[in-house]
Amino acid sequence: MTESDDRNPTDFIRRIIDADLAQHRNEGRVHTRFPPEPNGYLHIGHTKSICLNFGLAEEYSGKCNLRFDDTNPEKEEVEYVNAIKEDIRWLGFDWQEREYYASDYFEQIYGYAVDLIKQGQAYVDDLSFDQMREYRGTLTEPGRESPNRNRPIAENLDLFARMRAGEFAEGTYTVRAKIDMAAPNLILRDPVIYRIKHTAHHRTGDSWNIYPMYDFTHCLSDAIEHITHSICTLEFQDNRALYDWVIEQLHTPSRPHQYEFAKLLLDYTILSKRKLIQLVKQGHVRGWDDPRMPTIRGMRRRGYTPEALRNFCERLGVTKNDTRIDMAVLENCLREDLDKRTPRVMAVLKPLKVVIENYPADQVEQLPAQNHPQDPAMGSRLLPFCREIYIEREDFMADPPKKYFRLAPGREVRLRYAYFITCREVVRDSNNEIVELRCTYDPQTRGGDAPDGRKVKGTIHWVSARHGVNAEVRLYDRLFTVPNPDKGGDDWEQYLNPDSEQILPDCIVEPGLREARPEECFQFERLGYFCADRHDWSPERSVFNRIVSLRDTRGKIQSGEQ
Ligand code: ATP
Ligand code: MG
Repeated sequence: MTESDDRNPTDFIRRIIDADLAQHRNEGRVHTRFPPEPNGYLHIGHTKSICLNFGLAEEYSGKCNLRFDDTNPEKEEVEYVNAIKEDIRWLGFDWQEREYYASDYFEQIYGYAVDLIKQGQAYVDDLSFDQMREYRGTLTEPGRESPNRNRPIAENLDLFARMRAGEFAEGTYTVRAKIDMAAPNLILRDPVIYRIKHTAHHRTGDSWNIYPMYDFTHCLSDAIEHITHSICTLEFQDNRALYDWVIEQLHTPSRPHQYEFAKLLLDYTILSKRKLIQLVKQGHVRGWDDPRMPTIRGMRRRGYTPEALRNFCERLGVTKNDTRIDMAVLENCLREDLDKRTPRVMAVLKPLKVVIENYPADQVEQLPAQNHPQDPAMGSRLLPFCREIYIEREDFMADPPKKYFRLAPGREVRLRYAYFITCREVVRDSNNEIVELRCTYDPQTRGGDAPDGRKVKGTIHWVSARHGVNAEVRLYDRLFTVPNPDKGGDDWEQYLNPDSEQILPDCIVEPGLREARPEECFQFERLGYFCADRHDWSPERSVFNRIVSLRDTRGKIQSGEQ
């Protein structure tokens, strides 16, 4: 236990593990697994489970397996397997050589089902799924036993072998565990453990005509892998009884235990795979890695860092009650991480040209600028300054209110790292749109201070018109307009935020950003944190995504007061 001092003492899973270790259970081992079903891309909810499972292994010098829970051949694809691996690695976790597949255990799992049949604890049934539902009873009424429940063992074995051999059509037979049709926990009312499916599997091809059910597979896979703490989300609480029943009846290589924790629910987004697929299929977003998606690859493309995501999960802790988390918690983790690591640069998103009339036309100065005001180790750079620059359109007002401290006719402001300028004239086009400002600068104020002690209240950012680089900047906002679009109904699409993406094709960024690398993050001064788009950025075409605003102002440019 390397990090025992800052572990959360209220975390019930770590308390259980501590107690297990104290009693030398599981020979003192801690072995977890992350068990995704390869039927979609991972999202931020999975991140919580990944951080927990891999995190516990790290903390307790144990192991964490990556196990694909691939028992449903219809929905599973190799593409998802590869994407899941890439995403977990990107988050910074390593399963070493322990990449496993439930499908690798199909033969063993089949053997266990045969054992149950031989022990008189499972039978082949021919009730349809509808009939089974009817027989199951309700929370207040016991179920009825299937007429096949007492089928002789030999007949069960024969039918099960023929199911495997592909003799029967889908839906004709199932294998059910013989537990208790009157059990208060409905899951124990003779659950199906095998069904017929004539579907090819992404790993086992056509070799199986029957597939084990999730509940039967999961506990056996855990037992085969010698998992000690099998951690899943709360909706599996009732399934634990079946998990334990299977492990108790069979001679498995180990006896794992299941523990449930609360899912991550995040405001202003949805975390249901089915609905995420719908977002992509219906074109509400531009793909699985759209920067607005709560998928790991979407967040990665947006510019979220693995460190911020891991901190976020750590901060959430592990609890037993489902609570929705405010998006601001995640955004603050991001800001904290990005603040430390990102160099400050200047970029103008909505450019307005400024001509400095008394600045010599052919002169260019290189003005030093710090890369990080709190971290001198990040060094400094030189910014070219000349007669024509761009400033942010919103940093000028022709008719400003009293408390406006940025540029206005006759007003003086500081250009960050450069000079004081005063606006002398506003040039408009035939539509009366402002197209240019004519200003003068005070050569005495180089670097941003006046020798006569004169103060200005506003400091604005700028980029040299002659040296700046054209860039496309994509501003992202929340995907939904309400905190919980997924209240259960099917009307969630109506809450999509129509302004969740805003593309600004004509931005100007400082010349050094030509050297940016895809996925590199920056703070654009006064505007927020941005990253060079992972796929669309190229030396010929600068494309930046806004990761998050500087503060929780919901994306407004802050005023220039200092
Ligand atoms: P499905 O409905 O397809 O099963 P799923 O989100 O449960 O969707 P899995 O691939 O089964 O997907 O999930 C892998 C693991 O991640 C499981 O152990 C699951 O409990 C966990 N997990 C899924 N969603 C969340 C969430 N929102 N918060 C925490 N853990 C989650
Ligand atoms: Mg699941």
